[in-house]
Amino acid sequence: MVPFTFERARDVGGAAHAGATGATFLAGGTSLVDLMKLEVMAPGHLVDLGALKLKDIDVSPAGATLGALATNTAVATHVELKRLFPVLSQAVLSGASPQLRNVATVGGNLLQRTRCAYFRDVSTACNKREPGAGCAALKGWTRMHAVLGTSGHCIAAHPSDFCVALAALDARVNVEGPNGRRELAFEDLHRLPGDTPEVEFGISLAEVITDVFVPASPLSVHSAYVKVRDRASFAFALASCAACVERDADRVANARIALGGVATKPWRAREAEQSLHGAPATQASFEKAAELALAGAQTTPGNAFKVPLAKRVIVRALMLAAETT
Ligand code: SF4
Repeated sequence: MVPFTFERARDVGGAAHAGATGATFLAGGTSLVDLMKLEVMAPGHLVDLGALKLKDIDVSPAGATLGALATNTAVATHVELKRLFPVLSQAVLSGASPQLRNVATVGGNLLQRTRCAYFRDVSTACNKREPGAGCAALKGWTRMHAVLGTSGHCIAAHPSDFCVALAALDARVNVEGPNGRRELAFEDLHRLPGDTPEVEFGISLAEVITDVFVPASPLSVHSAYVKVRDRASFAFALASCAACVERDADRVANARIALGGVATKPWRAREAEQSLHGAPATQASFEKAAELALAGAQTTPGNAFKVPLAKRVIVRALMLAAETT
């Protein structure tokens, strides 16, 4: 591990100031410390956010505010969150292990880096780790890589389950930086790789995520998360889907679909959602939506299996969400 200096932030403003001068933020450390040991990341100065008062979870009729330092376990086991947003709890519990969830935070989950094996191996070419170096995955092992939102420079899949649920729930992210506080739509937090895969987030390195707001809606109550992976636990998604379905008798009044494991960022399938509005709440409608969701997939021989797999995952998630009405 490369030597570094360390300090504990006393307030968000101080942390943001340190971020503006090149410091790297540390929260639960479940991802960053691994990457430092692998020398994929080598921050010169770490600022520990752990003492900041950002751990609260508040639920009101308007929605839920999740403090950036609330642990994944606190989110997954919160009784009111489970009632109002079942997809959130299901997604968090499908990820990592109990030990990791006890330490990993909301903010850290949102900012975690890809699990692309080449990104984590400094002996291989990776545009995300070293801009312009090339991408070893393009002609390599791609079972875990994306088929949606890819570019000729990077096909790494986004690793989070929690973020897929937040995308489906139209969450909003609050950040504080040297220029004050601002809010951004969850969809704007993660960027497509394009020709700059090293630029992953829509916030600056000096901005601290303070909390995430999840709006309550009739949709959010009727939601479900389905994840398919190579192991029954402690494994990243091959394909996953967060689905919300509000029904009007036998028809779909409103629907949301977000995908994980198959895309370079938490992926909203908006055209598929549109196809369901007013459609019969049947398997046939859900299958048509699933076709639309994967219509733009770009595959390699190693990950082409994800297209039919993701379609089945979408149909299953929509069926489960619709059954809750
Ligand atoms: Fe790096 Fe992206 Fe290529 Fe993986 S897919 S090696 S993260 S550029």
